[in-house]
Amino acid sequence: MAKELNSKEEIEAFIDSIDTFLLDCDGVIWSGNHVIDGVQEVLDLLRAKGKRLLFVTNNSTKSRAAYLKKFASLHINASVDEIFGSSYAAAYYIANVLNFPKDKKVYVIGMSGIREELASEGIRYAGAEDDNENLADMSLMSSIHPDPEIGAVLLGFDLNINYKKLAKAFTYLHADDQCHFLATNSDLTFPAGGTVYPGTGALLAALAAPLERKPLVLGKPHQPMLDVIVAKYHLNKDRTCMIGDRLDTDIEFGKKGGLKTLLVMTGVTNPDKLKRSPIQPDCYISSLGWLRP
Ligand code: PLP
Ligand code: CA
Repeated sequence: MAKELNSKEEIEAFIDSIDTFLLDCDGVIWSGNHVIDGVQEVLDLLRAKGKRLLFVTNNSTKSRAAYLKKFASLHINASVDEIFGSSYAAAYYIANVLNFPKDKKVYVIGMSGIREELASEGIRYAGAEDDNENLADMSLMSSIHPDPEIGAVLLGFDLNINYKKLAKAFTYLHADDQCHFLATNSDLTFPAGGTVYPGTGALLAALAAPLERKPLVLGKPHQPMLDVIVAKYHLNKDRTCMIGDRLDTDIEFGKKGGLKTLLVMTGVTNPDKLKRSPIQPDCYISSLGWLRP
């Protein structure tokens, strides 16, 4: 069972045992557009102790540069190198792990975060906002063909998901089994305004089910995002802790990857849910804001 951190001594010993904190964002640092109480002070304190902070979010809708603006608007200190969104993880993976050929393009279902990060890695792409206008009628289906220039399909969250995007992505992947099938994350839902809505995993299911192909998913709890983080920052996993609010993404991610894990109760998990879950973090605390020795 997970241990609650409550005494000053336990909190101090915990902080001393860690060099790098991987911090989930929504539900840990902020909730929507509101910073969770005491978080700025705790982040400053961890920095003063020489800890490395990396902000790790599955939300692919923003690039690192756009997240930086959000951090600034919430008066949280951060630099672009500390931000690790699933859109950046995907772009980094395509450029550095797949060594994506310069003469190929990535077909994108997703928003500006993905396009900006692909551009930052020098990767050519098609789709996304360019395909926001759906097919006007069924007779236009014949305009969708396999395209040998498309070397990968990358799916992330997309408010403008439509049939044209699904049909194009399906066609590229169906016609060519060498075409890489990637997704930024697979969260079936995401929380907002006190309820949950269908997430990237719901869009991914619509594409993957008829294809009978499994995507490579970058984001938490899948390990490619951690592999990319470890490669980029040369982390010592024994002295790295994943802090998150969600058991089946954040905590599972840290546990699978051999990291220490700390659950906070300011997001989607409460003590009752924790008690009933087979996924148990090393420790839990009511809020990141309480991590003050
Ligand atoms: N995906 C989307 C579209 C979201 O809006 C969110 C949270 O708001 C997430 C994923 C989960 O993000 P995180 O990993 O920061 O909890
Ligand atoms: Ca979260």
